[in-house]
Amino acid sequence: MKSIHCDVCKKQIHQPISNRNYFHKAHREMCEPCTDAMEAHIKSTVRTKQPFSYEWYTPLVKSSIEKAMLKGKFVK
Ligand SMILES: [Zn+2]
Repeated sequence: MKSIHCDVCKKQIHQPISNRNYFHKAHREMCEPCTDAMEAHIKSTVRTKQPFSYEWYTPLVKSSIEKAMLKGKFVK
């Protein structure tokens, strides 16, 4: 069994199942609570940036995760 650690909170993800209890985003692995926190975190920005495009979404996710990794969590 491979062992996966969340890149943000550093917790081990037990019995990891992709897109179920961990998520691969912007080349990072995140647990479900961190993924939810990330989505809540970028939601207000996403709302102002219509129409949806991966051209801005991917860098937004990436920078948001990188900032959260320094702090160990997503903060407003
Ligand atoms: Zn996490």
